[in-house]
Amino acid sequence: MAQEKTLHDLFTETLKDIYYAEKQILRALPKMAKSAQSEQLKMAFRTHQEQTEGQIERLEQVFEMLGKAPRGKHCPAIVGIIDEGKEIMEDFAGTDALDPGLLAGAQAVEHYEIARYGTLKTWAAQLGLTDAVPLLEATLKEEKETDALLTRLAGADVNRKAA
Ligand code: FE
Ligand code: FE
Ligand code: FE
Repeated sequence: MAQEKTLHDLFTETLKDIYYAEKQILRALPKMAKSAQSEQLKMAFRTHQEQTEGQIERLEQVFEMLGKAPRGKHCPAIVGIIDEGKEIMEDFAGTDALDPGLLAGAQAVEHYEIARYGTLKTWAAQLGLTDAVPLLEATLKEEKETDALLTRLAGADVNRKAA
């Protein structure tokens, strides 16, 4: 008989997925800040870089609650999203379309994270991991706020300049 996997296993695997993703994002954000032309966009990336460090620590706390050492698991989705961003940075370097491209890539990243943290929070509650819920909720809030900030910037100067 095949060994039965549980929602708890799925939670742990998804936690590893987002842990890996956050580490990749932490590496990408300084490059995005450096590449951005608008000061507001640079600042948004730098602020989110600091938040991301805290988000990684929160995930490490959740691993600890599970009695597991923090471990990442290759996430092809985030690698793909980040690769698309790199391509835009290269192909649109020095053009007015660079910042809109960076914004679009960053929003794709945030949307992936929002999906993951929303799911993890729901599963943590269902699994009775009540101490993990507020940690996942705190990060989910930061990702949503970042997405909202990027939406505001996309509608403001950053994109108007490119028009
Ligand atoms: Fe994050
Ligand atoms: Fe993934
Ligand atoms: Fe984020």
